[in-house]
Amino acid sequence: MKKINHDSSYEFVIPISYGSTEVLETGKWSFQKPQTSFMTAPCQEACPAEINIPQFLYLTQEGMHDEALFTILRENPLPGVCGRVCFHPCESSCLRASYDESVSIHAMERFVSDATSNQVQDIQLISNRDSKKVAVVGAGPAGLSCAYFLSLLGHQVIIFEAKKEPGGVMRWGIPEYRLPKAVLKKEIQRILTLPIEMRTGVKVGKDISLDELNQFDAIFLSPGAGVNVPLSIKGENLERVWRGGEFLERINSKEKITLGKETIVIGGGNTAMDVARSALRLGSRVTVAYRRTRKEMPAIQDEIAEAEEEGVRLEFLMQPVKVSLLKNKRLAVKFQCMKLSGLDQSGRPKAIPVKGKFFTLEANHLITAVGEQVDSSWIPQGLIKNSLVEVNPSPKIFAGGDAVDQPRTIVTAIAAGKRAAISIDSHLRGEDSQEMYPKIRVGNKGAVSMEAYLAGRNEGKWPEVREVISYQQINTLYFEPSRRVRMRKRSRKQALKGFSEVNVGFNSRGARFSASRCFSCGACNYCYNCYFFCPEGAVSLDPACRTRTVDFDHCKGCGTCAKACPRNVVKMEAWS
Ligand SMILES: Cc1cc2nc3c(=O)[nH]c(=O)nc-3n(C[C@H](O)[C@H](O)[C@H](O)COP(=O)(O)OP(=O)(O)OC[C@H]3O[C@@H](n4cnc5c(N)ncnc54)[C@H](O)[C@@H]3O)c2cc1C
Ligand code: SF4
Ligand code: SF4
Repeated sequence: MKKINHDSSYEFVIPISYGSTEVLETGKWSFQKPQTSFMTAPCQEACPAEINIPQFLYLTQEGMHDEALFTILRENPLPGVCGRVCFHPCESSCLRASYDESVSIHAMERFVSDATSNQVQDIQLISNRDSKKVAVVGAGPAGLSCAYFLSLLGHQVIIFEAKKEPGGVMRWGIPEYRLPKAVLKKEIQRILTLPIEMRTGVKVGKDISLDELNQFDAIFLSPGAGVNVPLSIKGENLERVWRGGEFLERINSKEKITLGKETIVIGGGNTAMDVARSALRLGSRVTVAYRRTRKEMPAIQDEIAEAEEEGVRLEFLMQPVKVSLLKNKRLAVKFQCMKLSGLDQSGRPKAIPVKGKFFTLEANHLITAVGEQVDSSWIPQGLIKNSLVEVNPSPKIFAGGDAVDQPRTIVTAIAAGKRAAISIDSHLRGEDSQEMYPKIRVGNKGAVSMEAYLAGRNEGKWPEVREVISYQQINTLYFEPSRRVRMRKRSRKQALKGFSEVNVGFNSRGARFSASRCFSCGACNYCYNCYFFCPEGAVSLDPACRTRTVDFDHCKGCGTCAKACPRNVVKMEAWS
């Protein structure tokens, strides 16, 4: 008998005999047994780079920042970048959103990257006796990611990059106030501690031909889409009409730029938002004109909101048709009014002109940002389809990122680089990557796991593909409602003073609390519920070794532990 005093006025007795519990082998009565079986969290399924989010959040909560970083680096070499500018589809799928608010996964990824050093010593390079030589064209996120994973797989990689520094859009497009150059530099340096040779200032098709790269065993093409789409209207070549990509590149090269009092920006994507916010910082009043409505704007939602908060004026359903230079050196931009009708080929509402309705706005500068296209002038026509590069146009040529037909985001470019590395490695080993993908998929949204590939490739043991857990399978009784942790921001006044980073990351306390909000969907986080609820004392947990064991001599298969698991990790199975 055990007496427990909860307070001085009340005493009660729990009828447990430890002696008999230990002596009686109640396991012999059981007809079912609890099994630990992990499931895939929906956030992980939704992350194109397939980061093991519950695991890195659990490690962060435990203060194990280096381990959290290595968890991310196994699948994504650019956590500091993604933790700032990824469009975070992981958060839209977070199950906590159905309970109160989603976990701040995106900001947590940033925290882990910022809180850790630049070492990759814990990432094991595979010693590959059959190491091959691979050329990567372009050092944007797709090229860097492909080179990183190929290098981890033991291949020798040379990256050819046309610009004087690597990074692609991350270096020359996205402004400092969203992605500081120091963060990008740190991440690229970490990638380049691997045996990768970076040749900058080498444009393939000019300084070296694509044919010359045939000496390599495989080639990955990731030149991005760096050509600004023209407006194709009268007056577009006037001196004060600029192209968005060129404008951002000048800013990112620290060139001194003088803008007039008013600027009109044309477009609704990330480039338009970056141009608009940069123009604000250069002291101009900014109006963005977009031909559809806010709902159809392709820019990341956070960026649209931040642009508006900073004072960018958004105007919709208007399309420029002519630009003229006025006597006072200002520009007159004539707009056609538009309306939405039907759907275009991509399934988006089509913007069509409203007959006879025009108006004119004046400004000192007009900056166009209506899209980017691939410079295919140096790529053989056989590798191109619909003005984009084909993903695997010949047995030894692979392509990915903005140059191919895929969503144009950083994390999808990283995912494409990883996929290409797996395809190239499989091809070099004489295996069919198409047969490989179903074995290493995570969920059903296209993400693949490098960790699973390595396990199968090296040990011949393909990990089981896990089901994705649903909200109904979470036992929310064990959680308390709490607010999502939000990053602090510089005030509007401070932000517009220059190009310093606007969002201020979490401190350790905020990060720990934010991590603790994660349900750890489908993964054991050693909450000890099964241990406490087991009436036989048959469950043991060892968080250090990450193990959960059951003493089957004493487990009588009552199923209490399975019921008590908040995250559906324990399931009852019949003894076979
Ligand atoms: C202004 C802007 C802001 C954006 N903001 C975001 C954002 O916030 N979040 C997000 O997820 N996505 C954003 N995007 C989209 C994202 O940046 C791209 O989808 C991503 O960078 C594509 O990666 P990539 O590696 O395919 O191409 P890129 O990043 O374009 O890199 C291609 C590299 O190849 C090099 N190259 C080209 N041709 C050659 C050649 N012939 N020889 C050698 N090298 C060559 C280029 O110099 C470049 O360095 C933004 C895009 C733009 C333009
Ligand atoms: S890379 Fe993007 S989608 Fe993946 S976890 Fe990070 S923020 Fe989420
Ligand atoms: S609660 Fe945690 S594991 Fe579950 S979906 Fe959200 S971030 Fe992922």
